Amino acid sequence: MDYPHIVHHGAIERVTGSCHQLFMAPHESLLIDCGADSGELSMTAPDMDLGVIKALVITHVHNDHVGRLPALLAAGYRGPVLCTEPSARLLPLVIDDVLRHCAVADKALLRQLERQLVVLAFDQWFELPGTALSCCRLRLQRAGHILGSAYVECDVRHGEDGRATRVVFSGDLGACQTPILRDLRAPEYADILVLESTYGDRLHKDRGNRQQRLEKLIDQALVDGGTVLLPAFSIGRTQELLYELEDILQRKALPGQLPAGDCPQALAHIDWQQLPVILDSPLASRFTQVYQACKAHWDDDAQQRLAEGRAPLAFAQLITIDSHAQHQQVVNYLSSTLRPAIVIAGHGMCVGGRIVNYLKAMLQEPRHHVLFVGYQARGTPGSLIQQAAGQGEVSLDGQRFAIRAGVSTVAGYSAHADQSGLLAFVRDMQRWPSEIRLVHGEIPAKRALGKALEQLYATGDRPLQLLIPGDS
Ligand SMILES: [Zn+2]
Repeated sequence: MDYPHIVHHGAIERVTGSCHQLFMAPHESLLIDCGADSGELSMTAPDMDLGVIKALVITHVHNDHVGRLPALLAAGYRGPVLCTEPSARLLPLVIDDVLRHCAVADKALLRQLERQLVVLAFDQWFELPGTALSCCRLRLQRAGHILGSAYVECDVRHGEDGRATRVVFSGDLGACQTPILRDLRAPEYADILVLESTYGDRLHKDRGNRQQRLEKLIDQALVDGGTVLLPAFSIGRTQELLYELEDILQRKALPGQLPAGDCPQALAHIDWQQLPVILDSPLASRFTQVYQACKAHWDDDAQQRLAEGRAPLAFAQLITIDSHAQHQQVVNYLSSTLRPAIVIAGHGMCVGGRIVNYLKAMLQEPRHHVLFVGYQARGTPGSLIQQAAGQGEVSLDGQRFAIRAGVSTVAGYSAHADQSGLLAFVRDMQRWPSEIRLVHGEIPAKRALGKALEQLYATGDRPLQLLIPGDS
């Protein structure tokens, strides 16, 4: 067998369970991510010989990249867990949540993880110690997906001649202009690229003016004197929304600022400085605190707002709700008064979490509005509400609820690069990879991206070995 050699333990057929093993020699390998299937929280470790893993590298802390890490530790993995500083701060919160959902109250596992965590600075090479037969160094670069997200460059040196192969694992790549995060830059070069393909068959439209569209919909919703519900995932999407809401509200509160939208008179009575933005998700609040603690990693625009004395993720109108009793009080208060408010709560697809109590209390009232700012997977309550907009019913906790509240969708909030972003990741390299493996995508997305890559290589008259694991 030739080395380096890559085995994919997940993210083959679907956008789930990323886990890739890079063999540098028969008994020496690196594990890149250890994710769980989406929606699944499992204490089943990936089926592999733990003795050959020299290190685990975490690209970012989404469940589909780290969800099986507790199982890996429980199975006896004691090697280093390498990740960026923000990921190292977020990871214990995510793992604690995974353990709670698996009903494993194992604090020892968390302490074990903290002992194994090794923080790597962005953009700096790290020599992997203790590899006898081969030699490997690796580097993490910003992926622009969520706080701390990185792609991994691995130089595997082998043979007497010191020949090295550079293998790049993309992890999840962010879309451009993601608030707070610095933009992704392509690698210098790669020999082998393992590339995500979530949106390999799509182009994101309307990303540029999404904040204006969000503002307009909030204006319309508030005219009705109700609550604006924003179902959002706790890492990434919640912080992006807070960042944009702070910008909208601080501009509206400026003296002489006329309300936008179609009904300025109706909006004139709203005291924008007093309009509460309620973050009702303890987990999202903890993640937001980590975003706050990692200001050194924010982009120029966010730094500029800080320099102006603004607090984009901790502004005066932001109210965070912690206990369940407080949560129930807020639901009751907002559903029984005419006080307008904006509420962010999870789960992002309304599959569970505190958003469900808001929906149960408010969906039947036309003065409330649900604004979707993210993809709603087929069959989830979120997608059913989205499709039934203004009519129909949805089942929540086994009860049927008529949908009379306003329902809108604001496009442009994807956290993943689209096809053009994925192509740019390759095209902007000084030397293009001769082998690309497409992972982390549905088969049609991978095929479409594969075709586009082949066209790109054909125009440059360059050879490409394209592999789509899982596509027979
Ligand atoms: Zn991700």
